[in-house]
Amino acid sequence: MNNYSPKLLWLNRSGLGCFLNLLLVAILLVSFGLGWVVNGFLILLGVIFITPIIGFWLLRWWVKRNLIEDQCPVCSYEFTGFKGTNSSCPNCGETLEVRNGKFQRITPPGTIDVDVVDVSVKQLDQSN
Ligand SMILES: [Zn+2]
Repeated sequence: MNNYSPKLLWLNRSGLGCFLNLLLVAILLVSFGLGWVVNGFLILLGVIFITPIIGFWLLRWWVKRNLIEDQCPVCSYEFTGFKGTNSSCPNCGETLEVRNGKFQRITPPGTIDVDVVDVSVKQLDQSN
């Protein structure tokens, strides 16, 4: 379009009418054709830029809600874990479960009692 518009102006000596026609065509193109293209492009650009930002904020919000920072109940090593997942302590390797925002040992309390009894029996044996 840019190529032949000066040519038309040059061919038509009066020029003004042709120029007005071209202006009208340009306005129509911008308002109907190019307008949609520009709008669509801007919307697309907005979506491309806004989506990752919204995604990032959603992810941050989700992580903030689900990330637990607590001490290991076995060795008191502080680390982070996710709610609803079982994680193992990076320090002592104990498998832990997140309950009420705190790390808890998965092994039932009964097992721990038996372990304690075993230790005390060994100690008794050694003392005898
Ligand atoms: Zn630990």
